[in-house]
Amino acid sequence: MTNWQELEKKYYFQVVKRLPVTLVRGQGARVWDDTGKEYLDFTAGWAVNSLGHCHPVVAQALADQANTLIHTSNQFYTVPQIRLAQLLVENSCFDKVFLCNSGTEANEGAVKLARKYGKLHRKGAFEVITTFNSFHGRTLAMVAATGQRKFQQPYIPLPSGFVNVEYSSIEAIEKATTSQTCAVMVEPIQGEGGVIVPAEDYLKKVRAWCDQKGLLLILDEIQTGIGRTGTLFAYQQSGIEPDIMTLAKGLGGGVPIGAVLATNKSAVFELGEHGSTYGGNPLASAAALATLKFILENDVSAKVRQVGQYLASKLEEMKSKFDFIVEVRGRGLLWAMEFNREIADSLVSACQERGLLVNGVKPNALRFMPPLIISEAEVDQAKEILQEALASFS
Ligand code: PLP
Repeated sequence: MTNWQELEKKYYFQVVKRLPVTLVRGQGARVWDDTGKEYLDFTAGWAVNSLGHCHPVVAQALADQANTLIHTSNQFYTVPQIRLAQLLVENSCFDKVFLCNSGTEANEGAVKLARKYGKLHRKGAFEVITTFNSFHGRTLAMVAATGQRKFQQPYIPLPSGFVNVEYSSIEAIEKATTSQTCAVMVEPIQGEGGVIVPAEDYLKKVRAWCDQKGLLLILDEIQTGIGRTGTLFAYQQSGIEPDIMTLAKGLGGGVPIGAVLATNKSAVFELGEHGSTYGGNPLASAAALATLKFILENDVSAKVRQVGQYLASKLEEMKSKFDFIVEVRGRGLLWAMEFNREIADSLVSACQERGLLVNGVKPNALRFMPPLIISEAEVDQAKEILQEALASFS
């Protein structure tokens, strides 16, 4: 049998710490490796496979579109792109959409909008306030936006124009605001940062401050969007509306796509000022359209709230059993379990050996982000495996 992992070492950049598993097939919330071993997948491709693996509506939409029109440049109008933009607008507080290929690229677009807005309306202000422990992507600008030293260190000097401040603190944003500030960009819940849920009124206070100072509020919903937290977008639970929102991950149901959504006030690009060869091409747009339609028509968000509560109750149950679990936190189907020691890697391996895939989001924390279509029976199965793995550490 081919040793794929050795071949990878020889030919692929060694930038991601992988599990020793070569996945070859997926169906629903399950995946299989090249030895035929089955796993329950509570990572969902890092919160991407919203409808699970190979969902029939996504697979069918891809097959149909692949046999019709895969790609044209954005020099032409294409139907899936326009229909997807319409559906996003009709189900959010935004007026306009730009489609791209990833979360990072969506955030780049959002920051470019904010800078253009600053030129037009704030005397050339260009700085964007972002938060420590955030994650906004891997381009140089998004590394600068991402307030984590470990991602920034290898690439210093970084592009200017970003100020990182403490998360969940309105005072920190107020203090960092100057005449050069054009926008504030935050995640409604910090995902890669360890599923950090801010104070309940944080987004309301940020919104009020942005209104008072004439700043744009950009919400990075790349991880929290598309039903993940129990509403189509997390902002819908916060009592505010942002000016700009970015999406990716769950939007394409597994196919790479990103989106910038903006209100008319902030959609200030003019012809030629932004673009993308692949952005919103027919194939990716058709997959996203099928995913989003399924989520809306089947009220998947309501199911996320219900199964999410069930998952939370199981995680809480384990917290009361194992004293080294210090916190369980999250919303919908995005959860973390934090420990008083750095055992996440070992737990990930212990779960993997037993047929459950989870993510070690921090050395001392696991993250759970199963497909949105996960059942309570599958949660039960995951709980049994996790409990066994935890027991081996007590
Ligand atoms: N923003 C958030 C909140 C994310 O969680 C991520 C990825 O984890 C990104 C941006 C970057 O997205 P991508 O990896 O698609 O470029």
